[in-house]
Amino acid sequence: MAGALQSDTVRFGSTDIAYSIRRSRDRNTIGISVCGPWVEVAAPLGMRAAAIRPHVERKGAWILQKLDLARRHAAIYPKVLRAGDTIRFFGRQYLLRIHPQKTARSRVEMNARQFHLHLPPEAAPEAGHKAFKRLFRNELEARLPAWLDEYARKLVIDHPPFHVRELGNRWGSCTAAGTLQFHWLLATQSPAFIRQVVAHELCHLIEPRHSKGFFQLLNRVRPTSEL
Ligand SMILES: [Zn+2]
Repeated sequence: MAGALQSDTVRFGSTDIAYSIRRSRDRNTIGISVCGPWVEVAAPLGMRAAAIRPHVERKGAWILQKLDLARRHAAIYPKVLRAGDTIRFFGRQYLLRIHPQKTARSRVEMNARQFHLHLPPEAAPEAGHKAFKRLFRNELEARLPAWLDEYARKLVIDHPPFHVRELGNRWGSCTAAGTLQFHWLLATQSPAFIRQVVAHELCHLIEPRHSKGFFQLLNRVRPTSEL
């Protein structure tokens, strides 16, 4: 069975978690990764599936959280938007209305309850999606600096450079060079959630790993009571 890929399932709460097992000679511990909708477990050569299961069960909550994030990204990120879709924006829901019109460029307007997407008649199917991506990025670029400042001050560090971009199934990341990156879809989340992501990534500038010290630091900067 060396190198062969095997599948297995564990039950966590009321959910089945399916995963593939990849065994290799150069591993002596178990590693679990979630990439999009896929869960993969790397295990030492010769380790039986029954011995791997408890490790996966222990990480069940974390795995489901990752899977849920990937699913939510897919659901709020349709490539082709349709009239009547729900658009989430800073934690609130808006109805999407689409208006064909005679301008060269697509644009988005909003009021208290609706987004209005104006599209040229011959617009590509993904034009609406791109218009929202632009809007979300602009809004985050305008709002993130104040939150970055607030937590950077608490950590007594300089406000770091940041980018808003496509970031796969992560909300935020911190590069080795000390630049923070945020997913443009963060604009769909509530301000409280976004602030938590901002504080989390800022703490990584001081402690790159998810160590005990990291979570102590995060809790000091942004206590869970504020969530
Ligand atoms: Zn982290």
